[in-house]
Amino acid sequence: MPCPFCNPAREDIVAANDLCYARYDIHPVSPGHLLVIPFRHVASYFDTTDEERMALARLIDDCRAKTERAHHPDGYNIGVNVGEVAGQNIMHVHIHFIPRYRGDAGEHGGGVRRVIPRKEGWRRASGSRRGVR
Ligand SMILES: [Zn+2]
Repeated sequence: MPCPFCNPAREDIVAANDLCYARYDIHPVSPGHLLVIPFRHVASYFDTTDEERMALARLIDDCRAKTERAHHPDGYNIGVNVGEVAGQNIMHVHIHFIPRYRGDAGEHGGGVRRVIPRKEGWRRASGSRRGVR
């Protein structure tokens, strides 16, 4: 099966620069969920070049500007899964750019620390340390 992130269709590209592009996630977890992807086929974020990392960071800023205008989110999660055990399903690095909206995860907040669901009890266990996320 060919890599779904190599050779993107022009109409799928939401934003781009010389080294990377952004497209909408086909199974968005929130309105405006984007993937920021280097054009070069490389599996791991840790195997990207310094130039690709700078290009990815610049494109994330461009995505934010577009998303602020289109969706008016209240926050963002920006993250990358590295390796199957961490949830990476497509072995071409892609950074999830997930706009967040007040109340969209209920009372639990839904931050990056919650990627391992059974660890969710930390807040109850830690009592008053509510500021740490
Ligand atoms: Zn690829």
